[in-house]
Amino acid sequence: MPTFQTVRGMRDLVGKEAQTFTNIITKAQETALLFGFKEVFTPHVESLDLLSAKTGDEIRQRMFIFEDLGGRQVALRPEFTASIARLTTSTLKNEPKPLKLFSVGTVYRYDEPQRGRYREFWQSNFELMGADKPEADTEIILLTDKFMQVLGLQGYAFKIGHIGIIKSILSQDGIDEKTQNAVLQRMDKKEYDLALKLVNSEKCQNTLQGLIDLKGKDWRDTLEQINALVSGYEKAKDATKNLADVLTLVTSSSEISLTAEPAFARGLEYYTGMIFEVYIPQLEIALGGGGRYNRLIEAFGGESTPAVGCAHGVDRVAIALQTQNAAYLAKVERDVVVIPVNESVKVDALKIAQLLRSRGVSVEFELMGRKMGKALEDADKRGLDYAVIVGEREFKEGSVVVKDLKKREQVTVLLSELFEKIKS
Ligand code: AMP
Repeated sequence: MPTFQTVRGMRDLVGKEAQTFTNIITKAQETALLFGFKEVFTPHVESLDLLSAKTGDEIRQRMFIFEDLGGRQVALRPEFTASIARLTTSTLKNEPKPLKLFSVGTVYRYDEPQRGRYREFWQSNFELMGADKPEADTEIILLTDKFMQVLGLQGYAFKIGHIGIIKSILSQDGIDEKTQNAVLQRMDKKEYDLALKLVNSEKCQNTLQGLIDLKGKDWRDTLEQINALVSGYEKAKDATKNLADVLTLVTSSSEISLTAEPAFARGLEYYTGMIFEVYIPQLEIALGGGGRYNRLIEAFGGESTPAVGCAHGVDRVAIALQTQNAAYLAKVERDVVVIPVNESVKVDALKIAQLLRSRGVSVEFELMGRKMGKALEDADKRGLDYAVIVGEREFKEGSVVVKDLKKREQVTVLLSELFEKIKS
């Protein structure tokens, strides 16, 4: 029988790595609570129609699609937003606004696997629906910052743009929505020459080239230059003003390190306003991103509802934590092993293990029936702190032997003092 491997692009997470993921997910849940987002669970499998409606070619072409046994065309979710839009336009349609929903789980995209890029990966996802004000965009950026902070990540930065600037320029140049999306997709991949080839007029090409060339440290300077470049485009001026409002709010209410990048685009098609990414410059990978999508809920049959949201890549956050050796990385707490010296004290030893667990101590029990020497050797190898040895004679006197595996000392301890001894 051949041994089986995981499917390409899919991974097992084991031990410390799994624990790191759990820790990151817990921090995401804490962030959701801090900002008043309600957690929801939606299915991994959704109808193909829903998932492909607004996602954009880029992701549409990389979905895991199949027919279920009832002949339905379905797919594994490549992101959360379509599911959240479905939920918002159905079960939650009468909920008061703003509606703030949080989800965490795996999503699936047929990406080319490499470090930080998998076909099954974890996202924590936040969607804020019903608010059109720059305060709402600001909240999404601030919560991403808070999440990075509570994880203990260092040196991360934001780049912030506005899809409305480029879209307005393109529509004023008479370019239809489909071609606009094609231009944005090429810009997302930094294929600027290909993007510009799709544009009609020289004026438009020059304006876009000007925006592409803009890369300043100071966002106020950058915005001035954007304003100069888009002076002939009324709607692009509005979009620039909106971006300025968001950036002013973010920088006046936080210490976030950010740059304004007007030619920055994102793979998902549904954005209409501010877009952003958070990244660690040395790592050259985005840890998360998002933006405003004011027409999506409507596209799924709901009332016109402005919305803004973001998703963070848990797998990439784990890589960033590892490279920074963050103190926060998984500490697997397995403090104690309880070993009965023979069969006659097995039940008593089990009871002692349960007693310690009820007080929050992580306890392993000797399950292999090994002799004391072997059991201790194993506990040592696994890095446990203490062995609690339950012997007949000691137990009758209300005590056990506690061996400190690090210091290699052992003492007899009264059962009533066992917890204090271990916690000391
Ligand atoms: P998106 O849903 O495309 O906006 O992506 C949000 C975040 O998910 C990105 O910033 C990444 O951190 C993460 N991400 C996207 N694609 C992948 C992938 N194939 N593997 C691991 N993480 C990913």
